[in-house]
Amino acid sequence: MTPPAGDGQLYIDGTFRDPLGGRTGPVLEKATGAPIGAYARGDAADVDLAVRAARAAQPGWAALGAPERAGYLRRLGAYLETHHEDLVRQSMRETGGVRAKAEDEVGASIRQLQISAVQATDSAGELLQPYKAGKLSMSRAVPLGVLGVITPWNYPMNLAMRAVAPGLAFGNTVVLKPAELTPIIGGQVLARAAQEAGLPPGVLNVVTGDGPEAGHALAEHRGVDLLDFTGSRAVGLAIAASAATDLRNVRLELGGSNAFVVLDDADVELAASAAMVASLEFQGQTCISASRHIVQRAVAGRYTDAVTRRAEALTVGDPLAPGTDLGPLISAAQRDRLHHEIVEPSIAMGAKLVTGGTYDGLFYRPTVLTGVTPDMPAFREEIFGPVLPITVVDSDEEAIELVNGYPMLMDSVFSADLIRGLGVAERLQAGEVHVNDAHARHGAENQMPGFTRRQWIGVQRAPLTLPAWTGRR
Ligand code: NAD
Repeated sequence: MTPPAGDGQLYIDGTFRDPLGGRTGPVLEKATGAPIGAYARGDAADVDLAVRAARAAQPGWAALGAPERAGYLRRLGAYLETHHEDLVRQSMRETGGVRAKAEDEVGASIRQLQISAVQATDSAGELLQPYKAGKLSMSRAVPLGVLGVITPWNYPMNLAMRAVAPGLAFGNTVVLKPAELTPIIGGQVLARAAQEAGLPPGVLNVVTGDGPEAGHALAEHRGVDLLDFTGSRAVGLAIAASAATDLRNVRLELGGSNAFVVLDDADVELAASAAMVASLEFQGQTCISASRHIVQRAVAGRYTDAVTRRAEALTVGDPLAPGTDLGPLISAAQRDRLHHEIVEPSIAMGAKLVTGGTYDGLFYRPTVLTGVTPDMPAFREEIFGPVLPITVVDSDEEAIELVNGYPMLMDSVFSADLIRGLGVAERLQAGEVHVNDAHARHGAENQMPGFTRRQWIGVQRAPLTLPAWTGRR
């Protein structure tokens, strides 16, 4: 069967049902603005029903045992594989991403299910060294209970799966609230998959709806044992502040202003190609997109020319049309924020517009700004659009100092000297740093250990291969 076209219903306790308030909203194709379905606008009463269903289902789900739960995850993965092409097209239409991005997203979701299925049967706990003779000590993995999962619109299926798959694998049940801009690929499709895979009622519930209503209700619900939130810093801060009032358990994956550092001995053409991926993939709307380019003076001119040449050669248009490199932005609100709150004010403060800075509807031209200084929004804010702000520095020290001190997730450092590059990478405060590579190509996630901060460093050992559209052959 094909995935739902957007049936405007919630999925609670194994049943598709209308929201109690009876309200729906349209789902739009981002490139055309055409309606392609509807989503139910669930509210607090719907969320409450879903949390109760998840609570009731949890003991039975945990008692099933890991191999049986793993079997369900494999069946969910098989459903996604069977409908792979439909899902890729749905993702392209709903998120505005090009085919490669959509394929990445669906592929990563399937992989996540497969990995979680294996992990479920792998790690029951461990036997510990007894503290005293005559004692037996062990630890075991215990499910938390009911997970609330709130996801953003940029990688809606993958980011939902990142929490849903391991959550279910370890015996938790889930209430998922996908982003209202992408409720079908981020939620309704998974509900259909759960039904088709025969998941017991209440194990996975999907409550679509708007952030301040359904999202807020889920974040505040006292029946949720862990709230897993992926989204903006602003909403994350509000959730953390509220959770602190009665010590509710929350896990936050937010955004930041990631840096792309080019040292004076770097292969400038390579760095410029990687910068296309780092700043422009999915129109720069990725939590790990490079938001600031910190470039040493000796190569700044050549680097600016190289990224400008590549940016100007890119085709912006309908992601479904062959040959499109960059699709539309997700919404007019995001475009207006990018243009009126980041690009225009930075230019007014003295940044120079080298290319781009214009748009047609949601289609924003890849933009290069130079002369960007730390007081400008283009330096301080998460860009979340196809804009490369370039800041010139005179030393490694200055680059490190400028990068640190702003919230960030992932940085890159380019240098022909691996020891120098690693030396700079080690001193950056990002959770993940790449040397001579763009982001995310190693597939690693940020780690969050208890009392130490783990930094993940990826090194590009073999020659870097990049998609043709980056201008790299
Ligand atoms: P957003 O914070 O506006 O929305 C995220 C989700 O929260 C949506 O489902 C939304 O409906 C919901 N929401 C909104 N207001 C809420 C409220 N008051 N209470 C509870 N839920 C509410 O973020 P977005 O615009 O959808 O996504 C972009 C942001 O997500 C960027 O900042 C990006 O960096 C971040 N992000 C982070 C990661 C990561 O893994 N760290 C991954 C992807 C995106």
